[in-house]
Amino acid sequence: MPSQTEENYLKAIYKLGEAEPGQDVSTNRIAAALATRAASVTDMLRRLADKQLLDYEKYRGVRLTAEGRRLALLTVRKHRLWEVFLVQQLGFSWDEVHEVAEELEHVQSPLLLRRLDAFLQFPSFDPHGDPIPAEDGAVRRPVQRLLADLAPGESGTLAAVKNTSAPFLQYLDKVGLPLGARVRVLDKVAFDNSLEVRVNEGRAISISAEVSRNLFLE
Ligand SMILES: [Zn+2]
Repeated sequence: MPSQTEENYLKAIYKLGEAEPGQDVSTNRIAAALATRAASVTDMLRRLADKQLLDYEKYRGVRLTAEGRRLALLTVRKHRLWEVFLVQQLGFSWDEVHEVAEELEHVQSPLLLRRLDAFLQFPSFDPHGDPIPAEDGAVRRPVQRLLADLAPGESGTLAAVKNTSAPFLQYLDKVGLPLGARVRVLDKVAFDNSLEVRVNEGRAISISAEVSRNLFLE
């Protein structure tokens, strides 16, 4: 059974690999993602390689083995199911769940996980719109576009956030941009690429370029 630290490494490597498919993940990027020194990362990578959870070559970086990927996806699955539970059943807001789910994701009970999934009626997405990996590790990836890439006149439904930090989610709450909102681009300002958008056929609001690069529409 992997330790919590091992699970966190596998999850971080999986996510970094997703961000740049086909590339090996470098020690420096893992160290940055986990806010650890490169030397401790190297020790842990050797340990995970000994357990055959990843392939590690000193100057090239790492790549998860099939078993490493399975464990990473299982941890992601647990994390996202717990996030759904916290929001739907315990009244957490979407900016409060991540830290708690970071702890709950390490509970090792396949029975608990199956019952949690059934209790929640087998959700496909977490409260931030990220897909919940299926029991067999399959990840459903809907076709999504960044709001920043839409032209004036185009519209879509807000499906996921790229930035899941609490300040960003709180900002979305404040301006009234929840997941599921219909968003239509009215105008794009050439000067700074900010957008004027209409939300749910209601009022028009101005969205900065930075914000528009962190919202996925379907
Ligand atoms: Zn989370």
